[in-house]
Amino acid sequence: MSETSPKLRAELEGIPTYKPGKPAAAGGPVAYKLSSNENPYPPLPGIMESVTAAASSFNRYPDMACTGLMNELSERFAVPLAHLATGTGSVGVAQQLIQATSGPGDEVIYAWRSFEAYPIITQISGARSVQVPLTPGEVHDLDAMADAITDRTRLIFVCNPNNPTGTVVRRAELERFLDRVPGDVLVVLDEAYREFIRDPEVPDGVELYRDRPNVCVLRTFSKAYGLAGLRVGFAIAHDRVAGALRKTAVPFGVSQLAQEAAIASLRAEDELLGRVGSLVCERTRVVDTLRGQGWTVAETQANFVWLRLGERTSAFAETCERHGVVVRPFSGEGVRVTIGENEANDIFLKVTEAFRKEP
Ligand SMILES: *Cc1c(COP(=O)(O)O)cnc(C)c1O
Repeated sequence: MSETSPKLRAELEGIPTYKPGKPAAAGGPVAYKLSSNENPYPPLPGIMESVTAAASSFNRYPDMACTGLMNELSERFAVPLAHLATGTGSVGVAQQLIQATSGPGDEVIYAWRSFEAYPIITQISGARSVQVPLTPGEVHDLDAMADAITDRTRLIFVCNPNNPTGTVVRRAELERFLDRVPGDVLVVLDEAYREFIRDPEVPDGVELYRDRPNVCVLRTFSKAYGLAGLRVGFAIAHDRVAGALRKTAVPFGVSQLAQEAAIASLRAEDELLGRVGSLVCERTRVVDTLRGQGWTVAETQANFVWLRLGERTSAFAETCERHGVVVRPFSGEGVRVTIGENEANDIFLKVTEAFRKEP
């Protein structure tokens, strides 16, 4: 047998692996998964039906152009078809955006801590991550991010609301930032949690992109629409960027099941957004209760809360698990906890109450 092994690109050395939220423990008394920001509601019957119908022909390739879904999105967001691109979740689209813009020697700027996929997809491309710390209030430091731009900068992620802190940047500061970014640098507004926002001062990226050819909006069906397992997301951007996304797409990446489910979800939007409304009410209850218990909680506009627990992070996550809820710890920093079923949120709040009283 040969001693050698296939040569791999040096960039793959030391790539942090994506840590998926832990599944809820099987076999325990109760087990709720609050670790991946998923939608706790099961699929709507009508959406199940369209997926089941599509399942009868999965011996065929899907519609590569996602025609039906693209038409639906074009109408829903009042954008031309040429400004749309779909992909295997918005993470898939984000990776295509990096592929299309950045390579060895280039720089990708994003806040930190933010979405953990950013460092991974940046490093795979060979580009360098430029991480700009969040402010003490856990918000994007847009001035510092603009200051970090060099002539090697190709792409900037703005995660709004930010994962894992839930914090937002508002209209005036975001517009001021966009005005400072050179036109040849792509700004990606990652709006995975857009539907959970209730603060009217948070701008809709789709309005910001219209007169800015260097802005790309990322949206997903994984969170508010409850299709995380089907892998479909999309981007809205001007022709050049959307065209680059079509070039970098994995052929037939979005399955027909995902396409049909996404179309059915857009048609059932009122009902789905009603569920989002209930989750937002739960979010208010959870945040108010935490504050009543004495916790400092950054204002969240997403379907999760962030507790900066520092050294106590792992101990807290383990305690939650013993009580039947799985949360997402970032060791030494804090925990991100999804707003889930009411009973799950109750268990989490019992743990926080007890933990608060510990010396
Ligand atoms: C969950 C999430 C996504 C969506 O991922 P999908 O690939 O669409 O499932 C994108 N960005 C952020 C910040 C997220 O938290």
